[in-house]
Amino acid sequence: MKQSMTFIPTLREVPADAEVKSHQLMLRAGFIRQNTSGVYSYLPLAHKVLKKIEQIVREEMDKAGASELFMPALQQAELWQESGRWYSYGPELMRLKDRHGREFALGATHEEVITSLVRDEVKSYKRLPLSLYQIQTKFRDEKRPRFGILRGREFIMKDAYSFHATSESLDEGYQKMFNAYQNIFSRCGLDFRAVIADSGAMGGKDTHEFMVLSDIGEDTIAYSDTSQYAANIEMAPVIDSYEESIGEMEQLEKIETPNQKTIEEISAYLTVEREKCIKSILFKVDDRFVLVLVRGDHEVNDIKVKNLYGATVVDIATAEEVIENVKCVAGFIGPINVKSDIEIIADNAVKSISNGVCGANEEGFHYKGVNLKRDAKIDKYADLRFIQEGDKSPDGEGTIKFAKGIEVGHVFKLGTRYSEAMGATFLDENGRTQPMIMGCYGIGVSRTLAAIIEQHNDENGIVWPTTIAPYQIHIIPVNVKNDSQKNLAESLYNQFIQSGFEVLLDDRQERVGVKFADADLIGLPVRITVGKKAEEGIVEVKVRKTGEAFELAVTELQSKVK
Ligand code: ATP
Ligand code: MG
Ligand code: MG
Ligand code: MG
Repeated sequence: MKQSMTFIPTLREVPADAEVKSHQLMLRAGFIRQNTSGVYSYLPLAHKVLKKIEQIVREEMDKAGASELFMPALQQAELWQESGRWYSYGPELMRLKDRHGREFALGATHEEVITSLVRDEVKSYKRLPLSLYQIQTKFRDEKRPRFGILRGREFIMKDAYSFHATSESLDEGYQKMFNAYQNIFSRCGLDFRAVIADSGAMGGKDTHEFMVLSDIGEDTIAYSDTSQYAANIEMAPVIDSYEESIGEMEQLEKIETPNQKTIEEISAYLTVEREKCIKSILFKVDDRFVLVLVRGDHEVNDIKVKNLYGATVVDIATAEEVIENVKCVAGFIGPINVKSDIEIIADNAVKSISNGVCGANEEGFHYKGVNLKRDAKIDKYADLRFIQEGDKSPDGEGTIKFAKGIEVGHVFKLGTRYSEAMGATFLDENGRTQPMIMGCYGIGVSRTLAAIIEQHNDENGIVWPTTIAPYQIHIIPVNVKNDSQKNLAESLYNQFIQSGFEVLLDDRQERVGVKFADADLIGLPVRITVGKKAEEGIVEVKVRKTGEAFELAVTELQSKVK
């Protein structure tokens, strides 16, 4: 590509509103421009890299046995009502009406669409397992869009869904996806870890997040310095979102916990209560612990309540009685798996604390003091939440360290959450009707692009790993008005293209200083400068990553540049 013909609007200054490196560099190097909060245009360079990431994703998905399809972003409300998420997803779901007043959502994710599709077509165990994926624009009205395309309101996701007849088959499918994710993020040149994610009742091995290690990450991961153990230890985005809803964190400090009860009493209560819970979440606001119990048996027969379970957080009133007794905050809602529900509860819980109705503190509720071990579900979660740096852990090997991570991928065993709600059943070998067992697997394709830049840059700009660089070679004639420089640059350009490289030729009539600065900013792996020695057939080659530069005869170029 000739630079004069493409669109790479570079900036000298660091844009004031860009807080993190990748955002700054993507703006400065002419990769993206913002349209409105959380909504971006991907300019030609970014588009090229996105296509490369997508290509890697496609190759690995295909290897894992998944087939690509493409589903609508515009989704009728009825589907979301069937699953219940129309009510529980909260304000993150973008909703709109058509000219007839019918309600729609813009796809934040596609469990509903794919479940309805498969339920209508697959009736027998003989057609299972089935894995399908797409690469598509997603919409989420994030409370805090930020860090450029790392947290957008419109972003590109690869989402895959698998359908199985047995849980063994789901385990197999999950493992295949897990392996595919390892390959994808390795091929993207990322330093990442697969961590045990927030799993609630399903147990830690049933959902993993892929975290790119980075100080600007919104999640904190605990990992062992010698073994494979790694877990997401907090719900950082949830805690983040409190700040706005409660405003004054300091106020929380002053509130006394009512009815100080003994650890034994709390423990006894929990023993009874957790039997009923399908999910428990324990997290920390300042020094206070908030417990949210998600109850599976909560008026599940009442279809209205079931469908409205997102709204049953008003039951915090019921919870208050309990809370007064147990010195912790509990919210009771129906069976859920989505975090936005938790955010609503958390908001309510925090408000309750602020009002002094209830509270929790370290003495009153501590996992080491409370015998949570009897229940694996809560036990697991409590352990994950309260791990400290320097601890021994959970697999008995090494010492725990903390690191920040950017979530680029998430694999999840959904089980029958959607198939039961939406009636996606099949006939098993014995002719019995069974709900399909599902898994879902997401990758933030656009977020991955930013995460790569976050890990691959220096003070002069981006430093692309060769596997996903928009072009591998940048050719810069120092003076395009000089015929021998111009001709040599063009002939090298053609030669390299012919031998299969992607090449950017800076044919602009710019000062060479500007061209070099732009080249460093854009960050292609190899730069070839055609200057005064063009007539002798000598050029300068510079390796972006190491800064190493050397002169080379053009006759040697092809064999040296690989
Ligand atoms: P987060 O915790 O960052 O809000 P999530 O857990 O809500 O992400 P998932 O529902 O697991 O996201 O979606 C799958 C993937 O989509 C995530 O792992 C992430 O890489 C990407 N993703 C999610 N939200 C955004 C966003 N607002 N902008 C860009 N990518 C996103
Ligand atoms: Mg989210
Ligand atoms: Mg997440
Ligand atoms: Mg996730």
